Amino acid sequence: MTETKEDFRAKAAEELLKIKQDCQERGVVQEIKNIREYVDKAGISLADIGTSEEELQTCFKTGNMNAARTWLKRARERSVPWEVDTRGHIRRLAAEASFTLADIGTSEEELQTLYEEARKEAIERRRLKVRDKSVQSNFKYCRSCGKWVEPVNRVFPRGKSALASFGIFMLSGPILGPIILTIAEVFGWRPTEVCPDCKRRDWGKPE
Ligand SMILES: [Zn+2]
Repeated sequence: MTETKEDFRAKAAEELLKIKQDCQERGVVQEIKNIREYVDKAGISLADIGTSEEELQTCFKTGNMNAARTWLKRARERSVPWEVDTRGHIRRLAAEASFTLADIGTSEEELQTLYEEARKEAIERRRLKVRDKSVQSNFKYCRSCGKWVEPVNRVFPRGKSALASFGIFMLSGPILGPIILTIAEVFGWRPTEVCPDCKRRDWGKPE
């Protein structure tokens, strides 16, 4: 099945819609790349799908600002371990998409304070040996998505067998679920920790 120019035009328009709605850093970078590729393959211009270079730049900026706001929110809520370089992520996004910290409602002082407070808390917790599930970190860095996530357990990572996963999902009640998972384990399908977003097992360190 070969795609026609019309298909590529439709795909470009679809991607454009996505980035005009709520978008985040990684998504917007990829989607802008896709738009350029589809427009190219369709042999049309950005104007033909009702956009422009300026609008793509605006979307790029918005996507990066959204990502920075998410990092800021997490830092304020202390929902990321202090070791995660939240300040670094926010500064990098600001530099890449040319916006200021004030644009997202923060400042160098706040970032520094958030970092120091989170660090102090972590040290204090360690000192008191408090076991608090809510602050205990089991975040892992997903290289596919390029972000820190809380892994989920999955018997079939990478969507290898979507049908089988769906079957288990449909059947997993309090009784059948564990039985099926046990059978799956006997056949060597062990649950692995995968990324909740891309369902991959691509753990690593941020670049
Ligand atoms: Zn992922």
